[in-house]
Amino acid sequence: MTFAVYLALLGWLLNPPPPRPKLVVVITVDQLRPDYLTRWKGQLTGGLGQLATEGAFFTDGYQDHAVTETAPGHSTILSGMWPAHTGIIRNSEGVQDSLAPLLGTTGPGASPRRFRGTTLVDWLKAVDPTTRALSVSRKDRGAILPIGRGKEQVYWYQSGLFTTSRYYADSLPTWVQAFNARRLPFKAASTVWSLLLPDSAYKEADNEAWENGGIGVVFPHALPADSVRAAAAVAGAPAMDSLTLLFALEGFEALRLGRKGTDVLAVSLSTTDAVGHAFGPDSREIHDQVLRLDHYLAWFLKRLTDRVGRDNLVVVLTADHGVTSFPERTRAKTGGAAYRVLLDTLVTAVNRDLDRLAAGAGAGGGGAGSAPREWLEFDTGMLFLRDNGRFAAIGVKTDSVLDALAARIVRVQGVARVIRPAELARADTASDPVARRWLHHLAPDAGVVLTVTLQPASVWDVPNLSIAMHGQPSEDDSHVPIIFWGRGVRRGSYSGRMNTVDIAPTLGALLGVSPLSLVDGRARTEALLR
Ligand SMILES: [Zn+2]
Repeated sequence: MTFAVYLALLGWLLNPPPPRPKLVVVITVDQLRPDYLTRWKGQLTGGLGQLATEGAFFTDGYQDHAVTETAPGHSTILSGMWPAHTGIIRNSEGVQDSLAPLLGTTGPGASPRRFRGTTLVDWLKAVDPTTRALSVSRKDRGAILPIGRGKEQVYWYQSGLFTTSRYYADSLPTWVQAFNARRLPFKAASTVWSLLLPDSAYKEADNEAWENGGIGVVFPHALPADSVRAAAAVAGAPAMDSLTLLFALEGFEALRLGRKGTDVLAVSLSTTDAVGHAFGPDSREIHDQVLRLDHYLAWFLKRLTDRVGRDNLVVVLTADHGVTSFPERTRAKTGGAAYRVLLDTLVTAVNRDLDRLAAGAGAGGGGAGSAPREWLEFDTGMLFLRDNGRFAAIGVKTDSVLDALAARIVRVQGVARVIRPAELARADTASDPVARRWLHHLAPDAGVVLTVTLQPASVWDVPNLSIAMHGQPSEDDSHVPIIFWGRGVRRGSYSGRMNTVDIAPTLGALLGVSPLSLVDGRARTEALLR
């Protein structure tokens, strides 16, 4: 027993808390912007509407860090920590782990190996070892990161099947095998996504040239007739969210969650992200997706409530990030400056220059025609230094290379700021949200030597993909809904900034459990009944 666990147990024995709710449900909607809940309020008669009107709705909710992507965002929700402390600072080094292969299918191996710290699941288990957690998502990172390092029931979707990795288990349990054997995603072949409500219920134009790479921009949208292709394509369709919730409910029943101590059911729903990327936050498609999500969640919450009772349930709904409009749309509709920004050419040129210097110094380097060595790597606003020692070996001062590169980057259209991490310590975090979000993001040992922030309407370019994007420390990308609902929650609309790192400490206060490691967030007890 660690000392922290001992202290938690001692506290519990001396001051036993009232009985806890039996089930904590954490719903993360990938790419859900809070303005969707107000924009279509009158039409949200299902689960989203119910949570927003009956719950404690923090309207100024933020993923208050800089690189607003899925992996960093999910890592904050039940850990109470910024990405700077969870160590998950980008998607591309999130959960990938070749030592943790998938079970029953092929695909990228995944585990929480890079995640640091503890989560609410660990805090609950410290006081009640019978606590269990089930976490489900279409995406590996969406299922893995809310739970932290715990070897719980964690499942995600790959090529038509729900799976997990060797990190968690050696074989898939019977209920997962039975679900997969029904081959529901394959049976979605040729199914059609049409509007849920009559045409007149949607104000958005359907025929916008920048949507979906210019192909299939109008309703209805059909899945491929081939069943294998349909099982892959359904990942971007509303049906994927209903499939994820169905799988979560079957797991909830099979594992008999919420019947004894306090269990955790985490669900991350990925279709809003897929539709948002393809069609954008201003599209008819995202409107219809959110209406469908609202319907699915009504059904999901009713099933849970019927089984464990409303008095035994507490639900949190949030998002991992928001999204920025298509730059093409911003230019067309407002005439404003909005760019897709790519810095690869600049960074590659510097790597090539360093190679030439290395060759001159006899330290080797890439050949004339080959790709240069990666002295510097650029990824979603972060420039990583790959080996400081090598710079000294070829007689190059790192600072002068970085200063010269920064001077070139800041002149690129769409770039707002280039900040060296050392400058962040002097920033006014109250008046400068961009600096604050970078401070919350950068782990000291991540090797980031420059940060680049774009102007709010500009986005990072993904070569050959014309999609709507997120990933900036901007209002559109970082503002998310945060809603608590159920036992112990004081209904109301709460203004004043609340961050996703406050969710876990607030749930901890509601459940009477304390964090086992340092957290960045604080309990928002104004939303709790006493
Ligand atoms: Zn996304």
